[in-house]
Amino acid sequence: MKRVGVIGGGQLAWMMADAAEKLAIQLVVQTPSLTDPAVSIASETVLAAVADAAGTAQLAQQCDVITFENEFVDLPALSKLADQGACFYPQLTALIPLLDKLDQRSFLQKIGVPMPRFAAVTGDLTVAALQQFGLPAVLKARRLGYDGQGTLILKTEADLPPIGTAKSDHHWLLEEFVPFECELAVMAARSIDGTQVIYPVVETQQVNQVCRRVFVTDQWDATVVAQVETIARSVLENLNYVGVMGFEFFLTADQQVLVNELAPRTHNSGHYSLDACVTSQFEQQLRAVCGLPLGSAALTCGGAVMVNLLGYESATSDYAEKQHQLSQISNAHLYWYSKTAARPGRKLGHVTVCLNDSQDRSDAEAIVQQIEQIWYPASF
Ligand code: ADP
Repeated sequence: MKRVGVIGGGQLAWMMADAAEKLAIQLVVQTPSLTDPAVSIASETVLAAVADAAGTAQLAQQCDVITFENEFVDLPALSKLADQGACFYPQLTALIPLLDKLDQRSFLQKIGVPMPRFAAVTGDLTVAALQQFGLPAVLKARRLGYDGQGTLILKTEADLPPIGTAKSDHHWLLEEFVPFECELAVMAARSIDGTQVIYPVVETQQVNQVCRRVFVTDQWDATVVAQVETIARSVLENLNYVGVMGFEFFLTADQQVLVNELAPRTHNSGHYSLDACVTSQFEQQLRAVCGLPLGSAALTCGGAVMVNLLGYESATSDYAEKQHQLSQISNAHLYWYSKTAARPGRKLGHVTVCLNDSQDRSDAEAIVQQIEQIWYPASF
């Protein structure tokens, strides 16, 4: 039996459980708290923060290979473990250009991938934003941003801090604002022998910069799919990447695909694959990092919709009545992450509904509305 170490014990690690069982793999999880979602499914837990390399050294002693559900690691410290023989997939060298948003943009520019114009910010953020691209513009914390935290959309001068008050001491990246038609995402995987598998292109919808819904419904124009797939293949190949990667894109009105961001792990936009694909993204990740043949990414149904159940208050409820109502929706698969506390914006669970061949986008939108009416208070 293979033992796979997973750095991070949140819902992404938790959702590897079924695939691990199917593939006879044991998961050892490194995570800071015994209440983290994946502790309940791990064979063993190393109780340590994600960036704690001493914890990862312990993990390495217990596992054949180590992978990531959270990339906010201490790469220089992990490199020492790799030098001592620890096996990481994806390899640490593939992560080096991805963990800092400016480095990621520079890497993408180097390999010729289309994306928004960007600039490193030195000096005053407000002056930089106004001088570089004018308004609207987007400021992003270069490191440790997730779920829109650390992303500031500057629409008007009212959104700007007064000149002189906001220095770039937290290392910001500035981007042009893309007036996108919609946002797309795709999951792609690459195995140790270089085989690649690409999942269907999906539409994601964000509310306040956090993903709220994923639609696996549209037959995108062939040129759009070709742009997405060319970018995904080129990135995986250039990084000699092993594992699953999430790609987020903007689709412009003239049907150009621009990369927003890469996530070197399983991703929220791929949760639908648990219920709607031959091989889920979680199984694919385990297959890739264990050197098993990759599985098919084909849909097993007519499509799907996924809605994130985001916290809308600070509470400790398990929302049993809402969970019950959501599970009654036909063809619904409810995933409840069993987090101990809700707070606004926190991902508490998700629901995927598989569609049959006769259901179209408007059916999918009606299902989304039904889910959101159950879960969200009207104002959220
Ligand atoms: P995070 O890494 O925290 O998820 P992202 O960089 O993905 O943050 O941004 C979150 C959301 O903010 C995006 O999904 C998009 O809706 C919006 N956004 C980010 N960058 C831009 C941009 N350059 N132009 C327009 N909207 C953007």
